[in-house]
Amino acid sequence: MSLSEIKTRLAKAEAAANRAPGSVTLIAVSKVQPNARVHGVLAEGQRVFGENRVQEAAGKWPDFRAEFGAIQLHLIGPLQTNKLRAALDLFDAIHTLDRPKLARKLATEVQARGTCPQLFIQVNTGEEPQKAGVLPRDADEFIATCRAMDLPISGLMVIPPQDEEPSLHFALLAKIAARNGLKNLSMGMSGDFEKAVAFGATHVRVGSALFGARDYG
Ligand SMILES: *Cc1c(COP(=O)(O)O)cnc(C)c1O
Repeated sequence: MSLSEIKTRLAKAEAAANRAPGSVTLIAVSKVQPNARVHGVLAEGQRVFGENRVQEAAGKWPDFRAEFGAIQLHLIGPLQTNKLRAALDLFDAIHTLDRPKLARKLATEVQARGTCPQLFIQVNTGEEPQKAGVLPRDADEFIATCRAMDLPISGLMVIPPQDEEPSLHFALLAKIAARNGLKNLSMGMSGDFEKAVAFGATHVRVGSALFGARDYG
């Protein structure tokens, strides 16, 4: 589906949810996609992208930035502390802050640099053992812990369990955000981004619907 078709769907979802036009940021998830496809979407004007691996992103985005100028990059995959510096060199936003050790190292690094990326805390609303993110019952405390370290938390992020109705997870994320005074919600992917907008998403992460299926072969 073309970028303009996705944008049209997003605009309709905003209108249907009584959200201001343009209030939801479309993050084009370019992980694993061939550079030619990413180049095409850049040429169509998209400037906000998501990647889930630091190394993969470091291999392509410096060149794209050299060619296209300012591009906003969002890290949406798990972050190892040994990749933190590389991540901060590259990304404007991190959606996957999810543990005290990472928060501590991030706080130290942010203080040294004097700049901080936009930060989202990932919440494992499905309580899936294999999935990253803080558990819903630990979220309030973790948000407070981050704030006590002077980390400016911008919002929350969720990846709902694949085989469950996502609405319940979107609603839970919105509820945790509201009671903690957080206004940004990173939720919704190719299959459910319109639904996420209805539940208050401010950032949707759309990959395959925009670029086509990922080929991991
Ligand atoms: C890959 C990925 C997406 C995009 O998924 P699609 O279903 O291709 O839109 C969104 N969010 C995260 C965290 C991802 O890893």
